[in-house]
Amino acid sequence: MKKLLCIVVTACIAVACCLALVACSTNKLKDAVKNGDDYTIVASYDDASHTVSAVQTVSLTNRSENSFDSVKFHIYANQYREDAQNPVVPNVYRAKAYPNGDSWGDISFDSVKVNGTPVAYTVEGDDCDILSVPAEGGLFPDKSAEIELTYTITLANTHHRLGYNDNTVNLGNWYPVLCHADNGNYSATPYYNIGDPFVSDVANYNVSISLPEGYTVASTGELTEAHNNNGSVTYNYTAEAVRDFAMVISSKFNKISRTVGNTVVNYFYYNDAEPETSLATACGMLEFLNKNVGAYPYSQYNVAETEFCYGGMEYPNLVMITSKSASYQEAVAHETAHQWFYGLVGNDQITDAWMDEGLSEYLTYLYLDSTGASPLVQNMQSCLKTYVTYVDVLNRYYEDVDRSMRPLYDYRNDNEYVIFTYVKGSLLFNTVYETVGSAKFWKSLKNYFDEAQFTVAPSAQLVQCFAQTCGEEVGTIFSSFIEGKEIIGKVTD
Ligand SMILES: [Zn+2]
Repeated sequence: MKKLLCIVVTACIAVACCLALVACSTNKLKDAVKNGDDYTIVASYDDASHTVSAVQTVSLTNRSENSFDSVKFHIYANQYREDAQNPVVPNVYRAKAYPNGDSWGDISFDSVKVNGTPVAYTVEGDDCDILSVPAEGGLFPDKSAEIELTYTITLANTHHRLGYNDNTVNLGNWYPVLCHADNGNYSATPYYNIGDPFVSDVANYNVSISLPEGYTVASTGELTEAHNNNGSVTYNYTAEAVRDFAMVISSKFNKISRTVGNTVVNYFYYNDAEPETSLATACGMLEFLNKNVGAYPYSQYNVAETEFCYGGMEYPNLVMITSKSASYQEAVAHETAHQWFYGLVGNDQITDAWMDEGLSEYLTYLYLDSTGASPLVQNMQSCLKTYVTYVDVLNRYYEDVDRSMRPLYDYRNDNEYVIFTYVKGSLLFNTVYETVGSAKFWKSLKNYFDEAQFTVAPSAQLVQCFAQTCGEEVGTIFSSFIEGKEIIGKVTD
């Protein structure tokens, strides 16, 4: 009887803990919705001119302690201009990104209003990539404003985040998005063509897109309504507490779906011979992270096959996977991991790219190991070999080789960025995993997720979450890798 009582008591405690955790994460979601700015975008896509016309209203509150003279938006669509100083891709990727030759795009504004009054806006930044909207008299702390932007985006013919191609239209980083406010100032960072140079806060979205009939849309958020109107169809979406809003549009999409926990997982494809396998990978990874890290709070998760010059790209509730890429299933798993790290738990992807890339890559290796698809030890040996070989080559040509994990703009090329964020990032997390063991690793990650979801977490917070569970010594593993002072193991063949 005592044993039974024990079990009953234990079960009650377990249920109570679970309920407390669910209540806690529900509250965090509610707070994120309440504290997020609100975007309403009414857009239409013209498939003859490849343009998106939109009216966008942003209701924002100054949550900093400073007063702002102007409100700043990133306008990444301008990076596709012919005269962009910093082209959207490095030269080595140009042929992949523009298989049909050069093509250009941009964003132009018809009007900008603040609280209903037209204002004289400016396009700023060294590369015309920041929209500055004056706040007459200053936007003081806790004060709100409504900004209305009317604009047209011309899409380039490109296999990139934003552009059209023979199979799909990618609408990633398409609309003007508020700059993240850091220490009471807008962080009007420029675009970099290495990595994902985006830092944004979670916000709430109501987006409608009108298209000619015959297209299917894979999107962030939840479809709330669709209606036909004289040959065009309008789709309305809502998304709460998401870091960005993206879409992939195609007239060729097939769709298969499955439910995982409280989330409907949709796979949109046109050229995948084994769609069930890809859907199973997305669902498997979602289950794996639901169980080990924390519950995915959104009702939809969409995986879209598309044309892109890298393996894939992550957005909240939506990932782009490059058609016919060599590591398709790995890309599906990696981009799914980003739903947690980048999406739910944000980080500064310019200064600390290893935080989301290294972790998403390592979680992919752990998942592939758990399914028996490929052993962790084999993938880690391969990472080690790549990293050691790269550093070895650098050592032959340079003195005092910088092995630190740096901001995007300090890597000499895309290859070096990949090696230091994905490969060395994986080695870092694997060293922590091997040192502290599986149980403490997952416990630390859960704590980090619980603590930092819906925020932009600094690297110190990640390290602190591991130190709380695993002891302060774990901090030296992180610091040695980040600073480039790590002592790395031997490569075995
Ligand atoms: Zn990634």
